[in-house]
Amino acid sequence: MDTQAVKHAIQHSGRYNRRGFESPTQRAKALGESYQSNLIASIRENNFTYQEGRLKIQLAKSFGFCWGVERAVAMAYETRRHYPKETIWMTNEIIHNPSVNNHLSRMNVKIISAKNGIKDFSAVSHGDVVILPAFGATVQEMQLLHEKECHIIDTTCPWVSKVWHTVEKHKKHTFTSIIHGKYKHEETLATRSFAGNYLVVFDLAEAEYVSNYILGNGDRDHFLQKFSKAFSKGFDPDIHLERVGVANQTTMLKSETEEIGKLFENTMLKKYGPVHLNDHFLAFNTICDATEERQDAMFSLVDEDLDMLVVIGGFNSSNTTHLQEIAVTNNIQSFHIDTPDRISVENNSICHKPLESDLILKKDFIPDGELTVGITSGASTPDKVVADVIEKLIKITN
Ligand code: SF4
Repeated sequence: MDTQAVKHAIQHSGRYNRRGFESPTQRAKALGESYQSNLIASIRENNFTYQEGRLKIQLAKSFGFCWGVERAVAMAYETRRHYPKETIWMTNEIIHNPSVNNHLSRMNVKIISAKNGIKDFSAVSHGDVVILPAFGATVQEMQLLHEKECHIIDTTCPWVSKVWHTVEKHKKHTFTSIIHGKYKHEETLATRSFAGNYLVVFDLAEAEYVSNYILGNGDRDHFLQKFSKAFSKGFDPDIHLERVGVANQTTMLKSETEEIGKLFENTMLKKYGPVHLNDHFLAFNTICDATEERQDAMFSLVDEDLDMLVVIGGFNSSNTTHLQEIAVTNNIQSFHIDTPDRISVENNSICHKPLESDLILKKDFIPDGELTVGITSGASTPDKVVADVIEKLIKITN
């Protein structure tokens, strides 16, 4: 598929909008009413700390809604106001946050249903309005919606589009895109759809496996089996790993993405030498600022003298999970929750999700005595949700 031609046709169809419908002032007002919090604003002004009784809250210096998510949510609300009567769909949850998605559902903005990862577009009718989420949609989905003559409201974050441009560049220069991401994540599915030859690696360990293969230390059958769901059609590791460029899912751990980039650069340097490096490796820079800032703030937060950490964000939110990983790596007792409802004031309990595990209930999670709790939240979490969590902690410690 000529992805550039498809995008061009959609963008010039007269039924495509990627700017929204309202002014920045109207947009800020609408979001402020729904999601901002005076408590959080005052904590920010007080150097991100708050003390009440025996409880001290230490907020990360960067947390919560990022620019891309704010814009996507605002555009979704505007779309409903602009099309008050039309049927409105989203190809996925607009962001990974239950409270935002419930709010949109109450506005009768529907999500296209999916079974076993395959979406069913049959309910989408000619002329319906369809919102593409902040992490984008595949080019095949866009093409299908274009053919149905739907009005497409594209909230794809420009940082995500930047990754798509990167893989398009790899394709144009016949480099294989090595994508650092989760092969099933919606953003990576979209990035894959714009790439030519690609291979998705989840972490540094998988990248090292691929690097070893490039250097002649691998087993072809084992490679093909290991990555069977993570490479492009017709991918041949003996042919398609000769020229590689790196791209990433924007919400992966920044330090790991950088290490993977360096690893492949060194691998190609070793194999082909410095004179030919540029023929075999394409440098990249597609790490999103917001992800980077939140991770850096988390690294500073875990250096503080904390008794515990609460990480707030959707359980399927990649950037939130990476924040939780930082807490775990630093051996700080931490609780990942998606909504304030996971905390029971009456029972002093928290229902939380440890990494790679199901939800578990921890009773008496707030101990007696002085307590410092670090708090951060993923890029899809509104301030109001963070404030509600803090208010519950205050009630338990009072
Ligand atoms: S986390 Fe980064 S890429 Fe994702 S929506 Fe926010 S700004 Fe965009």
